[in-house]
Amino acid sequence: MGNKTLAIIKPDAVSDGYIGEIISMITKAGFKVKAMKMVHLTVNQAKSFYEVHKERPFYNDLVEYMTSGPCVPIALEKDNAVEDYRKLIGATDPAQAEEGTVRKLYARNKQFNAVHGSDSDENAEKEITFFFSRQELLENYPN
Ligand code: UDP
Repeated sequence: MGNKTLAIIKPDAVSDGYIGEIISMITKAGFKVKAMKMVHLTVNQAKSFYEVHKERPFYNDLVEYMTSGPCVPIALEKDNAVEDYRKLIGATDPAQAEEGTVRKLYARNKQFNAVHGSDSDENAEKEITFFFSRQELLENYPN
């Protein structure tokens, strides 16, 4: 069981003004923020980040969405981080998400769904290094 995950506050939630509320939910749930930045992804960066979805019908829309404005990637640490964070954010479609989850509270719909969370320990590692350099991680995130 790993202790790292990569969260992203996506462009819809940034422009809807929910950065503070979402970080507050994350830290109150017991996650430690190990690295964080605001970044406006290029099309190539978004394509690369979501490469696993390239055959899916929503891929182009997803790339357009993720490049529509700045987002806030956050490297998080907690025991059982991947699973606990996905529980905190709720189902992909906010209509299916449980009450009190981040997506239930702040997502607009299945596409503009406020936040990302890694789906495995292996992907968490990859996604954290996608956004944060060794230098940025070294001081606060040595493991
Ligand atoms: N997505 C979409 N339409 C869909 C499924 C997914 O637009 O039918 C978008 C949505 O923003 C989602 C992202 O693609 O968060 C990645 O999809 P995934 O199935 O990995 O969902 P997640 O792990 O984010 O819940």
